[in-house]
Amino acid sequence: MSPHGNHKILIIEDEPRIVRLLRVNLESVGYRVIHGLTAGEGLRALREDAPDLVLLDIMLPDGDGYSLCRKIREFSDVPIIMLTAKTREHDKVEGFHCGADDYVTKPFSSAELLERVKAVLRRSERDSSSRGCATDGVTVGDLVISFSRRKVFRGSAEIKLTPTEYSLLHHLASNAGRVMLHGELLSLVWGPEYRDELEYLRAYIHHLRRKIEVNPASPRIIVSSPGMGYSFDIPRSPEV
Ligand code: CA
Repeated sequence: MSPHGNHKILIIEDEPRIVRLLRVNLESVGYRVIHGLTAGEGLRALREDAPDLVLLDIMLPDGDGYSLCRKIREFSDVPIIMLTAKTREHDKVEGFHCGADDYVTKPFSSAELLERVKAVLRRSERDSSSRGCATDGVTVGDLVISFSRRKVFRGSAEIKLTPTEYSLLHHLASNAGRVMLHGELLSLVWGPEYRDELEYLRAYIHHLRRKIEVNPASPRIIVSSPGMGYSFDIPRSPEV
């Protein structure tokens, strides 16, 4: 019935009612579902069962979802969707700061949930199989972005990026030298409905700069055009 058969989704959520609801919805279209009721259980399931995506609640009995998200990001770039009961912009932005890829606000409709899950999985797969680029990558100083391998290196050391970080960098680098407008980047990376969510873009630009700039406070690669957007600059001088 569905193309989702092989994707395994880990739910980390302590409310059995919500877990049931999520499970029924996800299984109805063919996803496989595992779950952890606490942060500790979730972390163990993540390490042992290698899910393709994590749905992560913010309020857990043994910790909060933001800290858990940060902990997961120390060793994994698995796509993460935060489940939040809060709608305040601050909480959403906090989710992006800790490295989540998207969020779903409770109460959610099953259609919305499935759409977000599908979009995040598609993004992560498209990025991991984006072999269609005209060029194989971009080199700036000792920073190498390999489009065909979907990896970023400084010298010989790999810089680990999450799917969302890579997607953003990929769009910027494949349009090097051109200012990409805020709405254009949001639309390409997150989807057209995110066109106005400037805070998400800022949070992710911040993550990327911390990982790829020699001096993130004074960025030379991802350059801001205030009020417009960002461009990926390849400096002419060798000192980057
Ligand atoms: Ca909870």
